Amino acid sequence: MPRDRIINAHNRPTSAAYCNFLQLLLVAITLAAALPVVADEISGKFSGVYGHETAISPAESETNFDVQTFAGGPDADSFSQVCERLKRRIEGIWLGDSPAEHWRPACQVVLHASRESYLASVGRSGGQTRGSSLIGRHGNMIVSRRIDLLVDQQGNTSALAHELTHVVLAGGLGGRPLPPWLDEGIATLADPDRKLSRHHRDCREALDRGTAFDLTRLITLQRLSSPNQFPAFYGQSVTLVDFLCDREGPEKILPFAALALEAGYDRALRESFDIDGVAHLERLWLDHVQTGQHPTPFQPVSLRSIP
Ligand SMILES: [Zn+2]
Repeated sequence: MPRDRIINAHNRPTSAAYCNFLQLLLVAITLAAALPVVADEISGKFSGVYGHETAISPAESETNFDVQTFAGGPDADSFSQVCERLKRRIEGIWLGDSPAEHWRPACQVVLHASRESYLASVGRSGGQTRGSSLIGRHGNMIVSRRIDLLVDQQGNTSALAHELTHVVLAGGLGGRPLPPWLDEGIATLADPDRKLSRHHRDCREALDRGTAFDLTRLITLQRLSSPNQFPAFYGQSVTLVDFLCDREGPEKILPFAALALEAGYDRALRESFDIDGVAHLERLWLDHVQTGQHPTPFQPVSLRSIP
């Protein structure tokens, strides 16, 4: 069966994932771009600005997660419950009123005590990353879901929200993969504030240096050709999604993506956001970035915010 493996470059500072469009390049990229790890708390009070809890159907009372932990690690049942709450929160934000998806097969979540164990699962490409997600597809049918997480010494898993967002998004368009910039831009909004600040900085620096992608290229990009493209790609993707969320709300993003895949970006932008095509979007987005708004307000799904 075809399996899409995704590795996140935005995870170069802290977390990680697998992302299908990057699969060939990211070994070198993630290793080269590693930065110190930031840990999130697993508990805390939700303070997000978006979304609502999706009602739990009887079928959904069955767990959507199969958590494998290690001796002395997080309790598997408790961690599974955290994952369930986080899944509902993410679905509530990005899937709008769509019914919560009951995952069969369940999403396998493997917690690792050591980097050696983690790399044995995700491969050397995960070099300096702390989490990864893997979606198996057969056509548009999702046949497997897996998240690997490296647990830090405090018992935290900073990459969970980001990786789980990828897994939720994998089913968001009926199994069709999202365009890479949307998949990463959305998931990156689940990252901690300091990472978002870095992505925003990366975006502005790429614009200042002339190394930024023009928007037409960014939104059609399927694969990066150089590790040097990572900062611009992630910085531009997350600020672009942030801009669109700011304009109409996150629940409009996936319907927009679906329309864009069917009818093209220009029509989708006009119908979803009242923006007159990609060139108009680029002008508006540049204003958004240059005014210095970094995407912090759009970080509604951090693990820290799950009660
Ligand atoms: Zn990612």
